[in-house]
Amino acid sequence: MKRLTAYGFLMLLLLSGCGAQLSPDEAQESIQVIAMDTAMLITTYGERSPAAAYACEDTIRDLEKKLSRTDPDSEVSRLNNAGTLEDSESELRSILIQAGQYCQKTGGAFDITVAPVVAAWGFAGGDGYRVPSQKELDRLLELVDGFAVKGNGQTLSLGPGQSIDLGAIAKGYAADKLVGVFQEYEVPRGLAQLGGNVLAYGDRPDGTPWRVGIQDPAKPDDQNAFAGVLELTDAFAVTSGGYQRYFEENGKRYHHIIDPATGYPADSGLTSVTVAAGISDGSGAMCDALSTALFIMGEEKALDLWRHWDGTPFELVLVTEDGRVVVTEGLADRFTPDESGGYAYETVS
Ligand code: AMP
Ligand code: MG
Repeated sequence: MKRLTAYGFLMLLLLSGCGAQLSPDEAQESIQVIAMDTAMLITTYGERSPAAAYACEDTIRDLEKKLSRTDPDSEVSRLNNAGTLEDSESELRSILIQAGQYCQKTGGAFDITVAPVVAAWGFAGGDGYRVPSQKELDRLLELVDGFAVKGNGQTLSLGPGQSIDLGAIAKGYAADKLVGVFQEYEVPRGLAQLGGNVLAYGDRPDGTPWRVGIQDPAKPDDQNAFAGVLELTDAFAVTSGGYQRYFEENGKRYHHIIDPATGYPADSGLTSVTVAAGISDGSGAMCDALSTALFIMGEEKALDLWRHWDGTPFELVLVTEDGRVVVTEGLADRFTPDESGGYAYETVS
């Protein structure tokens, strides 16, 4: 069995090389943080940029301590082990409420209670990757029901035998919190890449938008291969794709985004989904949850959800198995195709 992972799928372009033109109030600090099972890069500008960058790191580490599924002392582990948790701080509660909403809005494609199935495939760390038997999957799928996660008074509770995995929403939630840190430290502009979650805060020092490359899912190991580039100001962009984490067995590839309807890695005809939205309360978590869910739902249902969405507006870039890149119209003038990938480009309304 081969173990393969490919993170670093959203490359940040033109991040460096602007130091020469910086005015004194635009000092810059960049730090790398390894957390939440991924490599993160945070760049802050402004007089307080070093303090801001380290405050971002503290925020992420604090969240990781609460939300990690592998740290036995985390709130999530305690909830998973005991089935209930007295919740004093309400941060986990807030994430669970948001997760419940996205479960409902995506018809159950996004479901944090898919955790036991994710673990059976070996994507929760530990014993290595494996293909579970159908019998095992059938048994575990009985535990998957996002609506059984409850918050009554101060008590959070799961259904019998359930556990949760916040891997599809935690980084987006963290990105939302970084906006608060940037504001607190009066950061005029900044860029945070938390694995596949990007926060483009303000614009670049030269006044142009941040440029964020969307990894070509067909070439996950080539960090210069893009399906296209997004220009973003005050926005989140989050990409989910099967190429980001997978293993191969008997010549077949199995990735980490599990369709709760089947218990198997999603097979919807998409190779990646990027969800972008302007910065507003909770829109980082929204982009994260939706990128995972829409990857499972496939092109038709994803576009349907986009067309009928009644929440915070978002836009999409879908890369399909049959070689197309589908861009929703609100993003069309901020998206530059990369023709070298050989994709056919479409704008949809
Ligand atoms: P993302 O990279 O945001 O798309 O999240 C993928 C991660 O979320 C996986 O590694 C699992 O930990 C978890 N996950 C997998 N399938 C689902 C699902 N259907 N709903 C919620 N979380 C999931
Ligand atoms: Mg996600």
